[in-house]
Parts: sequence; C-alpha cells; structure tokens
Amino acid sequence: MERKRVIAVGSYPDWDSEAMSRDYALATIARLADLASLDPALRNEAVAVAYKSGASFGAAEMDLLPNLGLISNFGVGYDAINIEAARDRGIRVTNTPDVLNDDVADTALAMMLAHCRCIPAGDRFVREGRWPGGDFPLNRKFSGGRAGIMGLGRIGRSIADRLVAFGMEIHYHARSAKDVPAGWTFHATPEGLAAEVDWLVVALVGGAATQDYISAEVIACMPQDAVLVNISRGSTVDEAALLDALEAGRIGAALDVFRNEPDIDPRFLTLPNVILQPHQGSGTVETRRAMGELQRANIAAYLRGEPLLTPVT
Ligand code: NAP
Repeated sequence: MERKRVIAVGSYPDWDSEAMSRDYALATIARLADLASLDPALRNEAVAVAYKSGASFGAAEMDLLPNLGLISNFGVGYDAINIEAARDRGIRVTNTPDVLNDDVADTALAMMLAHCRCIPAGDRFVREGRWPGGDFPLNRKFSGGRAGIMGLGRIGRSIADRLVAFGMEIHYHARSAKDVPAGWTFHATPEGLAAEVDWLVVALVGGAATQDYISAEVIACMPQDAVLVNISRGSTVDEAALLDALEAGRIGAALDVFRNEPDIDPRFLTLPNVILQPHQGSGTVETRRAMGELQRANIAAYLRGEPLLTPVT
C-alpha cells in the first residue's frame, strides 16, 4: 500500500521515529520554524503532522501544508495549536489524554512530599557531611493537610485520589461542581479555594482562557506558608506575582512548568522555598511510549478514514 506523507515535528526517540518511518513516508523537522524551508513538493504531499513541540502552530504554518488533514499532538495539552485556525481549514486535531494521568499525578505528589519534608535539602545535608554536626531541622507534616485542586479534570482527579490516601481534606475549583466522593468541597471561585488550603495544586488546561488564572489576587488569598504546586502550564500562573510572594517568604512553591521554558526566570534559582522540575510530569519511558503509540494510532485511524481515537473537540 502507498505510504502517505507525514511530517514529524520535534525530537522523537528511536522507538517512535522507527515506527513512523516504517508506516509513513516520513519527513522530520526538529522545529516548526523549519517548515517553511522544507521542499514545497514534500509540503504539498503532507496529509498529517505528528506534532511534539510547544511552539505556536497557527494559521501561517497550516497554510504551508495545503493538503493537511490532521495534527496529531504528542501530549494532552494542545494549547500551542490554534484550534480555530485548524477548524477553519478542515484540519482535525488529536491529543494523548489519560495515558499520562498516573505519571503527572505521581510527579505532583513527589514534588509535594519533597517540598514538605525538605528531601533535596536533606540529601545535600548528608552528602555534604553536615549530619555528624547535628540533627537535620524539623520540617512539616504532610499527611492530613488541606489540599486544593485547581481544575479537577483527568489529572486533577488523579492527584486528588492519591491525596486521599494521605488523609488529606480535598477541596477543588472547576467551572462546575463534579461528581466527587462525599466530603470533597467545591469552591465557586479560585480565590475561595486558595484561601482554604495548605496546598494549591494547579491542574488546569493551558491557553488563553486560563492565562494568569492564578492571579496576584488568588496568590494573595493563600495562607502564610501555603504551597503552590503547578503541573499544568506556566501560563496559568501570574509568575511575577508568584515570585514576589516567594521572595517575601509568604508562600512556597513546587513547579514543573514555567513561563519561557527552558530559560526560566533566574529569580527562581536562588529561592530556598521552591522545588524546581524540568517539565518532566509525563517523562517516563512507559508513558512516553504510550503517548507515541496513541499519537500514531490517531494518525492510522485518520489515514484509514476511521473515527479518531482521541479528537480534540
Ligand atoms: P482536563 O481533563 O481537560 O482538565 C482540565 C481542567 O481545566 C478541568 O478541570 C477544566 O475545568 C479546567 N478548565 C478548562 N478550561 C477552563 C477555563 N476556561 N477556566 C477554568 N478552568 C478551566 O485536562 P487534563 O488531561 O487533566 O490535563 C490538564 C493539563 O495538564 C493539560 O492541558 C496540560 O497543560 C497539563 N499537563 C502537564 C504535564 C506536565 O508534564 N507537567 C503533562 C500532561 C499535562 P472544567 O472541569 O470546569 O471543564
């Protein structure tokens, strides 16, 4: 059977690029910005893009691909893709939901525990030979605290379910109340949630609609020594307001995502009350393999004219 032209954008491990090269006439570019310099004949042939990038994929890029019918995104968050521009051009978009819930939720829990029990500082304390000089300072109890989930979607729910095992009181905010276990508390506003919890865990979608959702006002509502945990997108938090609150020692933070990744604001680097992670929420071999398989399964369904597995609606 004739292999269809697919353009892979981004850096893929061998297991993905070998599978794509086997199944499609594959062209690979490291960055979306390289699309314009790709051979026009090849761009004309392209019917699908396997997309793995945070770079903005807008109308201008789509217009370089006149026969494009599908953008298959590697990742659940598709905020980099202009969905309206795709819809206007009859281009379908898919993402990779659910297969990464466990890993992202595990990462949130790991950051929370690391922050609360000062795990990075404890590790340095032992390695640097300071233990014989005296005991490590006492830290804070994790189990039994009050956790607030900002955005109780797939990942937010996975985080909340884990926190139940730690005896946490669960509070949440979303645009509407959800079907949740008895005892979980819905807050109609982000400020209302922020004011009632020790841990404010952000699991919102990214994009224009949630830009600065965790505003200066929301941050101001957080109690002294509460901790902001962000595994969503850097865009959801007013980072300047967050940095001010962190530098004032009012709150702590555990962050997997930032504005301007990977060149994050250097003010973060010297703060003792922050856990910093390199956007690695879904970054396990098992989950990245599953995400690649789902990305290709959507492309396969599209090429066969079958219903897409996980369309963005
Ligand atoms: P989801 O199931 O769609 O849940 C998203 C949540 O965001 C829902 O609670 C939703 O509220 C809320 N939301 C959406 N639009 C909103 C708006 N305009 N105003 C207020 N709230 C809004 O998504 P998910 O699968 O859990 O993924 C969440 C995000 O996690 C992804 O979009 C991605 O950015 C991020 N993520 C990060 C990593 C990482 O490596 N750190 C990995 C994977 C995903 P409603 O319930 O009211 O609709």
